[in-house]
Amino acid sequence: MNEQPNTFDPASLASDYLGEAATLLAHDDPFPGGAVVPPIYQTSLFTFANYADMADTFAGRRKQPIYSRGDNPTVMEFEARVAALEGAEAARGFSSGMAAISATVLAFVGAGERMVAVRNCYGDAYRLFERLFPRLHIKVDYVDGSDPDAVAAALPGAKLLYLESPTSMMFELQDLEHLTRLAKEQGIVTTIDNSWATPVFQKPISHGVDLVLHSASKYLSGHSDTVAGVVAGSAAHIKHINEQTYSQLGGKLSPFEGWLLLRGLRTLPLRLPHHMKSGLTIAERLKAHGKVERVNHPAYSNHPGKKTLAGYAGLFSFEVTEDVDIPAFVDALKYFRIGVSWGGHESLVVPAKASLEQTPGINSMARFDVSPRTIRFNVGLENVEDLWADIAQAFDKSKK
Ligand SMILES: *Cc1c(COP(=O)(O)O)cnc(C)c1O
Repeated sequence: MNEQPNTFDPASLASDYLGEAATLLAHDDPFPGGAVVPPIYQTSLFTFANYADMADTFAGRRKQPIYSRGDNPTVMEFEARVAALEGAEAARGFSSGMAAISATVLAFVGAGERMVAVRNCYGDAYRLFERLFPRLHIKVDYVDGSDPDAVAAALPGAKLLYLESPTSMMFELQDLEHLTRLAKEQGIVTTIDNSWATPVFQKPISHGVDLVLHSASKYLSGHSDTVAGVVAGSAAHIKHINEQTYSQLGGKLSPFEGWLLLRGLRTLPLRLPHHMKSGLTIAERLKAHGKVERVNHPAYSNHPGKKTLAGYAGLFSFEVTEDVDIPAFVDALKYFRIGVSWGGHESLVVPAKASLEQTPGINSMARFDVSPRTIRFNVGLENVEDLWADIAQAFDKSKK
């Protein structure tokens, strides 16, 4: 897992990711009055013309939104777009990525049951599994998702396989087709956190995954102005989530944020290739830099999990040499602001050591194989030469 095999090969990229996603987003049906942008249905409830309409709607014979904790037309428009982009039958929006993750997992795993998750999954997903789940008597076993034999050994008896490819902070890949085949043989539901790749660069449903999760706060929104989540999958799976957890846990997406997300989605296929290009430019230069020991970027992986990626996002990490003073490096950066989250227009830096201290005693670095010398970059939409000049001067100021 620690080898750094090759350099980036641009020929390995598929070329059609842009056109398809852009077309899916461009074909807006006109909204009331011929508007090209849907109205924000800022309403908590929807009234009925008469008794029969209400009775037929409640009985499922007629379709109409009832109350915005269930359905709201602005949010439904966002859900339909995400479903189309992911090649799913249906999708459900949530108030955050964590609301989507918790409602999805809890819809399929209950007390006395077990699930398997990839190590180095997103920090708050890990904290949900470690803090709340033991109290609900749900057991979570972690595996190195890059190793199909380890996953196969852990699967028997599990209810759900939780993937995230690439993983947070370490950017380890998983072979989606192989792992979902193993899960399907045993009737185990598979989920993936696809926030990093987005449907522009990876369509997990076409590779056998049942349910695709997103923190829509990241690339789907793209402007660092929204916290939201979404899950996409078969109509039956989404119906199950609606019935088991969605309405009752109550983590619904607000109409205004659904509207902001629709705006963000329109430029997703334009933003992602820019993040990819700038991210790779900086990754390549870091790789050649004397103060950098390794770059954790899926472009430098030989893992079969790479074959389902049509491109690369602008989020990756790297490890610096012993003689770099990491706090001084981070403080010297000007364009890369210090902060969590990612996927927006702005470049950001997160030192792994500080980030992992959010979970003292549980999220041990040894267990998760994250070196304290790891730094994560979110490469934004700024001019890449300005970003590189910023990095170069920060290295100069961070000699021990
Ligand atoms: C941010 C993030 C989440 C959680 O999403 P929120 O919208 O912040 O709740 C989940 N997965 C990944 C990979 C993330 O980066």
